[in-house]
Amino acid sequence: MEQVYIGLGSNLAEPVQQLDAALAALAQLPETRLVAISAYYSSAPLGPSDQPRYTNAVAHLATDLTAHALLDQLQAIELDQGRQRKAERWGPRTLDLDIVLFGEHIIDDERLCVPHYHMHARPFVLLPLAELCPADLQLPDGRRLVDLLSNCPIDPTLQRLHTPQLGTSMAANKHRND
Ligand code: ATP
Ligand code: MG
Ligand code: MG
Repeated sequence: MEQVYIGLGSNLAEPVQQLDAALAALAQLPETRLVAISAYYSSAPLGPSDQPRYTNAVAHLATDLTAHALLDQLQAIELDQGRQRKAERWGPRTLDLDIVLFGEHIIDDERLCVPHYHMHARPFVLLPLAELCPADLQLPDGRRLVDLLSNCPIDPTLQRLHTPQLGTSMAANKHRND
């Protein structure tokens, strides 16, 4: 199984509930186990600033899916939760699920860039990732997570929220879907 880290983000339609629902969906993926979830973080938007604050987190999965099959699954969850693909980059969205790390793989093709191309500049990815990874984690391209963290610009808007209880959020979501 590959050890995979997924970045979750939302800034529309009750972002905390969107992330809770996304976790429930990730827990149901075929050939995949949801291992752990970071705390949720709130921060001001990247890109256009006339949009609501974001809620972000990172999930640790173990999967036998290929990276591209996993991307298909993640995009299906995004669509299921009302994601509309618009021309505007970094615009508001109900749910964004990005593959931050896929085991030791380096992927660069028309659909996937892994490790995520911009993770080094995103405190809302690096901080939750560091909650879940060994402190001395080395990325497949040789960069060390501790170095990315110390070189990353500080985001004064970033706030750490609660850490969701996996069982609880999934039970709540199951109830909603019944
Ligand atoms: P950003 O990639 O800067 O976080 P975004 O997440 O808003 O922006 P999306 O609109 O969600 O971008 O995705 C655009 C395309 O990015 C997707 O169709 C997908 O093929 C591609 N993509 C490339 N690398 C990845 C990755 N590591 N995880 C998810 N999608 C990726
Ligand atoms: Mg993204
Ligand atoms: Mg995305």
